[in-house]
Amino acid sequence: MRTSNRSVTVALSVFLILSLMLMIYTQQKDDHRLHKEYDFTGKLIVLDPGHGGRDVGAIGVSGGYESYYTLHTAEYIKDHLELRGAEVILTREQDEDLLLTERSEISNLLDADAFLSIHYNSTSQAPEAAGISTYFYHNRDQKLAEFIQTQLLLHTDLNDRRIHQENLQVLRTNNQPSLLLELGFISNEEEEKVIQTEEFLNQISNGITNGLAQYFLYKE
Ligand SMILES: [Zn+2]
Repeated sequence: MRTSNRSVTVALSVFLILSLMLMIYTQQKDDHRLHKEYDFTGKLIVLDPGHGGRDVGAIGVSGGYESYYTLHTAEYIKDHLELRGAEVILTREQDEDLLLTERSEISNLLDADAFLSIHYNSTSQAPEAAGISTYFYHNRDQKLAEFIQTQLLLHTDLNDRRIHQENLQVLRTNNQPSLLLELGFISNEEEEKVIQTEEFLNQISNGITNGLAQYFLYKE
């Protein structure tokens, strides 16, 4: 009697664990499909390649300018989002000077569904510093920051430097959902090489696309 009771308990536990695993698996698959199929038609995304013109931003170990990397990255993300049906506007399409207020003004005037300022990080103190961080200013944008940061980490092999709330002008003066993304350290010799690869740019684009899809679904 005791043995058969135990067998029933074991069988039940195994069944419950398997059911739970199946539920989690199905849920993940559903989430994945949801984002893969999310239609961005009607959504307007403003991408802001940080710096430009006389302001080259940070300078990488190789001598590469942040302002060049940010434009190249934004163009890549733009192509990705457009393939999914989004309308994408870049605040600058060439190496030119642009005030921070002009960048957020474009977002406000166009009534953007999301504004993402693209940057690469740098520090002179710690050459080993590495990873991705996401900044938001308005409380309303915390959820967007969480979605994007999580997806960026899921798609790349870079460190998690987490989300931060900061008083950044390009975000403070922005009436639209807006973030500033630091997509890696160009003061880190290895990471500067990584961020220039097509593989990385694809991963970043997929991460951002999925994060935005999650956010828009969450808001609907
Ligand atoms: Zn920057």
